[in-house]
Amino acid sequence: MPLEIVTVPCLSDNYAFLIHDNASGATALVDAPEAAPIEAELSNRRWRLTHILITHHHGDHVAGVKTLRPGATVIGNAADASRLPPLDRPVSDGEVFDFAGHDVHVMDVSGHTIGHLAFHIPDATAIFTADSLMALGCGRLFEGTAGQMWESLSKIAALGDETIVCSGHEYTASNARFALTIEPDNPALQARAEATNAAVETGRPTVPSTLAEEKATNPFLRAGLSEVKAAIGMDGRADAEVFAEIRRRKDAF
Ligand code: ZN
Ligand code: FE
Repeated sequence: MPLEIVTVPCLSDNYAFLIHDNASGATALVDAPEAAPIEAELSNRRWRLTHILITHHHGDHVAGVKTLRPGATVIGNAADASRLPPLDRPVSDGEVFDFAGHDVHVMDVSGHTIGHLAFHIPDATAIFTADSLMALGCGRLFEGTAGQMWESLSKIAALGDETIVCSGHEYTASNARFALTIEPDNPALQARAEATNAAVETGRPTVPSTLAEEKATNPFLRAGLSEVKAAIGMDGRADAEVFAEIRRRKDAF
């Protein structure tokens, strides 16, 4: 395995991720909700942080950057630099940068915020989505429109089913309860809801997931399917409109 991914629980329900390249010893962090648990994980594994990738400007994703940054290259969206910690390497949508010999594809996935990035690393078969696509859910629309988030989710959905989705929060149990109000008869969703509850009861993270699982069960990714449109009485309506309605229902759930 050329790249190792470690999930680091932070704060009450955030996740940060360490990506370690065994060959070079380089270690990247995706998001820094707080420094302490990330420092502990690094020191346990005797890894040294070389890169910090920032998805978006919210405090629960950047608060630890200041403490963790000495010796690391801080990477984030050039277009949102004014709201991010100082960037050593500003990047833009569509750009590919190098992490220890591995391509990292920068994707603008605006919606939760304008300028929210996802990082796709084909060598790890993984995408780091933070508060865009989440396990059984998607981020709230604080800054962008439903149309923007639908476009962002559709870009992510175009990746391979085997892609590992490393998202930013442990919200899966409540997301499952909501998803069942949209598709109560979806057997894959019923099974995932049960597995989620079992994981949460024993303190196991439900993140990461896979894109295949999300496509089979995540109501936000499934807004374009005729069975989902029918299930909420929106037969024949545009995909983005159906997504917007599902997002509205979730906000009121
Ligand atoms: Zn956020
Ligand atoms: Fe967040």
